[in-house]
Amino acid sequence: MPELPDVQIFKQYFDATALHRKIVDVLDCDPKLLADLSQQKLSRRLKGKAFSETRRHGKYLFGRFENKGVLVMHFGMTGFLRVFKEKEKAPEHVRLLLQFKDGYYFAYDSKRRLGKIAISETMEDFIAEKGLGPDALELSDDGARFAEQLKGHRGSIKGLLMNQEVLAGIGNIYADEILFLIGWHPKKKAGDLNEQELKRLAAKTHHILETAIDRGAGEKGWPASWLLPRREAGRSCPRCSGTIQRITLAGRGSYYCPDHQA
Ligand SMILES: [Zn+2]
Repeated sequence: MPELPDVQIFKQYFDATALHRKIVDVLDCDPKLLADLSQQKLSRRLKGKAFSETRRHGKYLFGRFENKGVLVMHFGMTGFLRVFKEKEKAPEHVRLLLQFKDGYYFAYDSKRRLGKIAISETMEDFIAEKGLGPDALELSDDGARFAEQLKGHRGSIKGLLMNQEVLAGIGNIYADEILFLIGWHPKKKAGDLNEQELKRLAAKTHHILETAIDRGAGEKGWPASWLLPRREAGRSCPRCSGTIQRITLAGRGSYYCPDHQA
């Protein structure tokens, strides 16, 4: 499922392939992904415009188009972007298809149709409307601010890391990775963490997110010491002599090492 590092890679792809190309048509759009937007309205906003820049916040990507407005993209469980010239190169589950003036196509693909496409006037408007917390990459760069934002919450630390209203961008996979590398049990109580521990968590979070982005969100492989390449019950822990286990936490499968995560 695309989390912050994956969406950052989508942003790099978007910037390299889709900026400054005039949109002449919206050829296809799956109504399931358009919250309160119709294809007609989407067409009206995008036709004749070009994307001038992108921004990312949490797991959302925003493509700003000329004049005023942003195309908001959330990638659900299986979403990704593809720009191509020949129609036979289209990916298999296109949910949004734009045509550029130069003949290229822009596709948003999502096999499981769980993403979201919207139009907002600005990124800030959308963030406020959704009640999203600060971006996890940005916030974790400032340990004191991070600690301030995360302190005093109840529940498990894993649940807190994944709470998009507190911290935007981290999902199940990166929450597991952060807790694995910092050595904390996923059910550890968030409310027990002191300022120093929260600052340590900020530094670890920042390091993991930056490393993941540097590694192309996995395209260039994972560090051997990480959980991600062996996220499976029964595998041996790369950090100690433990064995990876799976538990269900907040309805999600969580992987951790009971030997070094206390
Ligand atoms: Zn271990």
